[in-house]
Formats: sequence, C-alpha cells, structure tokens
Amino acid sequence: MNWRWLGFLAAIVVIILVVWWLLPGDKAYYKMDVQEIDQDIRRISKEDWPIQERMRYYSERFLGAPYELLAEGDGPYAKYDQAPLLNLKKVNCMTYCEIVMALSLSDYYADFNNILQNIRYDKGIIGMATRNHYTMADWKSANSWCLDDVTKQIGREDTRKLERMISHQQFFASKDIYDIPLMRRDRNVTIDYIPLAKLSDHSDRLRTGDVVALIQDAEGIFSAHMLLIIKVQEKIFFRHASMSADETIDSEFRDYIQGLEKNRRYLGMSFMRLKSEINWRAADHYYGKFNTPVPVIPRKEWGAAVPVNEGEIHTPEAITLHHTAIEYTGTPPVEEHLQSIQAFHQQQKGWIDIAYHFLIDRDGQVYQGRPLRWVGDSSTDYDLNGKVLVCVLGNFETQEPSSLQIESLKRLCTDLIIEQQISLQNISTHREETDETLCPGKNLIREIDKDDFIKDIEELVRVQT
Ligand SMILES: [Zn+2]
Repeated sequence: MNWRWLGFLAAIVVIILVVWWLLPGDKAYYKMDVQEIDQDIRRISKEDWPIQERMRYYSERFLGAPYELLAEGDGPYAKYDQAPLLNLKKVNCMTYCEIVMALSLSDYYADFNNILQNIRYDKGIIGMATRNHYTMADWKSANSWCLDDVTKQIGREDTRKLERMISHQQFFASKDIYDIPLMRRDRNVTIDYIPLAKLSDHSDRLRTGDVVALIQDAEGIFSAHMLLIIKVQEKIFFRHASMSADETIDSEFRDYIQGLEKNRRYLGMSFMRLKSEINWRAADHYYGKFNTPVPVIPRKEWGAAVPVNEGEIHTPEAITLHHTAIEYTGTPPVEEHLQSIQAFHQQQKGWIDIAYHFLIDRDGQVYQGRPLRWVGDSSTDYDLNGKVLVCVLGNFETQEPSSLQIESLKRLCTDLIIEQQISLQNISTHREETDETLCPGKNLIREIDKDDFIKDIEELVRVQT
C-alpha cells in the first residue's frame, strides 16, 4: 500500500461521510430535538428551492412517523383540549399536512411554530372556537392567505360541486361542549371536487406538495382524510399519515384510488396548493395571540347598504355603550333588523351610515357597523369624536339583556382596549355622556354597573396581552 492509495481511500471515506450527512433519509424530524430541527430549517431556508421542493423535503422528514389521532390540541392551558399545540413526534393526517406546509414557509423553528398556528387557527387565534376544525369549510378559507383551491384547474370539465350544511354547534355538541358563546354560525358551504374515477385523467396537472382532501359521502362534513401529492419523475404518490398503517407512508397513486373506489363512502378529491406569493400581512394579523377575540360579522354578511358618503376620520380613544331602544327578541331575523336600523339612520336621520360601530344581538354575535375610523352619529348632543359606539340590540328599559350579550360586550370591549389602545377608564354609557337619554336602558346599566363587569374586562385584557 503506498501513500497515493491511502490518500485515495481517505478521499473516498470523506465523500461517503459527506454524502451520508447530506442524505435526507437520516433526518427524521420525529426523532430529532428542537435545536437540530432549527438548524436544519435554517439550512434549507438558505437553499434557493421552489416551494414544491420544500414540500417534498419536509414531507419526507416524517415518513415512518407514528400516527396519533389526537396528536395536537390547544395547548396545556386550554379549557377544552389540552393536547400540545405542536407535536412533531406523532402526527395525524391533518397535523402532518399543516406541519409540512408551515416548515416549507419558514426560516427557523420559532417562525415555523408561529406559521403553524396561523394555519391551524383562524387568524392565528388559539382556542377551540377559532380552530380550523373542518378542512373544507373552515381550514381552506381561513388559509386563503397561503393556499389556493386548484381543484377546478386540475379537474376542468370533470369537476363536480357539492353543497352541505356545516354546523359548529353540532360539532361541539358531539364533543359535549355547550358553553362556547361565540362559535361560528351554521352555514351552507359549496365545494369543488373531482370524482375518483376521473382523477387519473387529470393527474398530469398535479404537483408535488398539492394538499388533498378526500371527499366523503356524509352529512355535515366533506373531508375524510388529508394527503399530499408527491411526484417522482413520472410516478405519483400520496404521502399521508395513515390511520390504518399507523404511520406516515407513501401510497402509489392508482393503487390508492382503486382501493378507495371499493368503498362507496368515498366520492373524490379536492386539491389545494401553496401560493407562490404568500400574503403575510393577512397571516400575522393576530400573530401569536392567545385566547379568543370576538369574531365580528362583516357588513357584507348582514347585507349593509353602502355608506352615503365618506365619514369624518377620528382616532378611537373611548367606548360608549348604547341600546337600540327597540324591543328585539330575534324577529325579524337579525340581518333584516340591522338593515332597517341602517335605513332609518340613513333615510330618516340623514346620517351617512348606521350610527354605531358595533352591534350585538341576543346570541352574542357581534356585527360590524360603521367603519371604526369614522366618527359615529347621535340624536343627542355630546362629543362623538374618538368614541367607539357599541350598541346592544334591544330596549333595556323594558327587556333584560341576555347573558350572551353581556359576555360579548365584555369581550368586544377587551379587543377594542387591546387593539385600539383604549384605556379601561374610557368606557362609559350614553347616559353618562348626556342626560338627554335613558340609553342604554336601566337593565343594561345595572349589568354594566356591577363590579365584575369592569373586573372581567380587566382580567381578559391581562390574559390576552
Ligand atoms: Zn345611545
């Protein structure tokens, strides 16, 4: 053996070591610690890879990962589901897709965790009510900042439509949860899907990293399973956390579809794809904020008319509380009721828009009124500049406010205090501003005057900031 030979051997050893280190197969994220994963994400983020390559790389990191149906929840401080917010050791079909998506969009570990929560929760607000439980009804639309529905683009003339009623109320009832005051309303949702028998005809338009929802024939729900598309040259695989295999596996495209076709429960598939341009501004609206701010039902959803004119701009710095002084117990439907209040304000009062910035119905639902940046209106004489006008629907001289209205009122005030940096001392009732009125009515005033009204808001502000 001469020196040259030895040098050659040493070079081979070095090459083998380098190749071994670069080989992705050994980097199973479900076996690695946070520091190792952080370093790997940082390394990959510096590579000039298209998003599909990242999806391929990160999806591979979980091949063989153990399956766990209840892999993730709302974290240890949650009221209903204390499973961890993030679990890389075990995955289910949905958490698997979410984790791979979030990794593909991130530059380091903490970034990944934040993006993940923005994908799992509506506006990233962590809680049972805001979790994107339903893939097609909640998750897809809440993630329109990063995902496009490409079903029609792929299935073209073979795309079918399906409409179903989605009920969070029933969903939570099935979990024995009855005390979420601000859950999403029951609604009809229509989706696109491609029938199983037609999928092979359109498979050339699939891309690595496409997120798949398996559509089932069932009441009140669309998706039965979530999977990722992986293409290796001409071959296509579904990569998914499989309950039956009890781990994350690759399934050959045609074989898997043939298997599904034997079960009449499965109808077809819908496809979603990560955008090439992510709308980060939409994603980090509530970045990392815990607890549940009040969902506000937008003007468009209650059929508000267009403001007659632009409003006068102000900076919100105080909140005044009102009632409509119209007895209201739910008839006519709240949309009509709001429309008639707005019509009265615009047509009889000659105001540009509904007077109030927010309105709260008996179910505790909050509706967006006049844009917050515009000064409100009043029939009485007091300084409206900087005031956020919050109106509880009803006549509380004669009626009692509902407990859900009070709860929402507290939460809405909390959000306004945090987001608009309004001081807790700057909450007042209309009647405190002027004695020309009884508004917001003696029964509501009694609730507001209770010690725990302000204390509860104080506590909510404390836990949310
Ligand atoms: Zn008032």
